[in-house]
Amino acid sequence: MTESITGACFCGSIRFRFNQPPVAKRACWCRDCQYLSAGNASINLIFPLASRELEGEVRDYVSLSDSGNTMRRSFCPHCGTPLFSTSSSRPEMVVVRAGALDDRELGKPEGFIWTASAPSWGLTDTDLPSCPNQPPPVAAR
Ligand SMILES: [Zn+2]
Ligand SMILES: [Zn+2]
Repeated sequence: MTESITGACFCGSIRFRFNQPPVAKRACWCRDCQYLSAGNASINLIFPLASRELEGEVRDYVSLSDSGNTMRRSFCPHCGTPLFSTSSSRPEMVVVRAGALDDRELGKPEGFIWTASAPSWGLTDTDLPSCPNQPPPVAAR
């Protein structure tokens, strides 16, 4: 039995739960993520969308990403915490922003993506795999 993975936004009006481990954990240095993450890479866990339980009403912002996919980013309308994103290229998956996890130790990334978009001082871990732009889609584990 897998322990569930839980999280919430800063103000607590949105809570979520996944009852399975993530299929991937990555740090993303794309330009869009630098806006969302106050200048840093975003730390993301990817889960099957069907495994998400959500309490509270998120608001969405839809935009075209550097990869050419339509991205729907969900945030708390009260406190603005970035929580989720989904991509038109793989609508069955949801990306969770690791800052919202109750156990932030779970966010340790397995690799870095979009490193070509990082500023010159952008930190990556040279022991982990890194991809200069969009990696191949993740498969369900
Ligand atoms: Zn909130
Ligand atoms: Zn990104």
